[in-house]
Amino acid sequence: MRRMLMRAMFGAALAALAIGAEAADELKVLIVEGQNNHSWKTTTPLLKNELERSGRFQAMVVTSPPAGAKESEWDSFRPEFQKFDVVLTNYNGEAWPAPVREALEEYVTDGGGLVVMHAANNAFPDWPAYNEMIGLGWRGADFGDRITVDDHGGIVRAPKGEGPGAGHGARHAFVVTVLKPGHPITRGLPAKWTHAVDELYHGQRGPARNMDVLAAAFSDKAKGGTGANEPMLWTVPFGKGRVVTNVMGHAQGDDLGAIEAADFRALIVRCAEWAATGDVTLPVPADFPPLAK
Ligand code: ZN
Repeated sequence: MRRMLMRAMFGAALAALAIGAEAADELKVLIVEGQNNHSWKTTTPLLKNELERSGRFQAMVVTSPPAGAKESEWDSFRPEFQKFDVVLTNYNGEAWPAPVREALEEYVTDGGGLVVMHAANNAFPDWPAYNEMIGLGWRGADFGDRITVDDHGGIVRAPKGEGPGAGHGARHAFVVTVLKPGHPITRGLPAKWTHAVDELYHGQRGPARNMDVLAAAFSDKAKGGTGANEPMLWTVPFGKGRVVTNVMGHAQGDDLGAIEAADFRALIVRCAEWAATGDVTLPVPADFPPLAK
């Protein structure tokens, strides 16, 4: 009897340990949305599903008041960043109240992860810490430095005022080139792959300090681009935290091809895991696109 009881207790303890381990392995991600010049009501559920489908994340969503909302409506918008391993911003709209901005700064400074996708880097030009975190944003040519990549993978810095400001040419499918194959986010990806039809951001501007450019794409003048290799995916350390920006992922109306593309979906999950932990354990999915012939 005693032995059976011991065995039952041991079994229960093992089960508790297993559950504990599983819960510890699951990372908590907070998606911030509520205003965007893109179809955020469609894209947030896609992002949430992709993160959860990986088995690595438990995702929650926080929605800001709409544009033009009264100040009192903003009083209840207080995302609890510190409860999450990583924050993914799908937000491009009005400035957040000071306490929210301060909370995000403190969260990342203390080691929190931040993932910035597509138009989320258009947001908050007047928030200095955000500009530091993203390195480059959708800003005018006079706002800050510009970063391009030469054909040998070297970083070329242009001062503010020199060259184009933020823009993009006609949407088209383009080749993405990995510059840092040893980085956890890009480890195991094809050296070059063909991304779906998307906006190819160019002339992004900012303080551009401590940027590690992981991947770039050639912006073809024939498509209304700059004729330069433009950064597509990069990281910036901020305090003890990690910030990663992926400027791909345009989505408007029925035009969801870029965000539904296998490479974008894989990158969002890999970026989130890296921002949360500093490493990527998830395998590169089998449907990750190759370089189109
Ligand atoms: Zn867009």
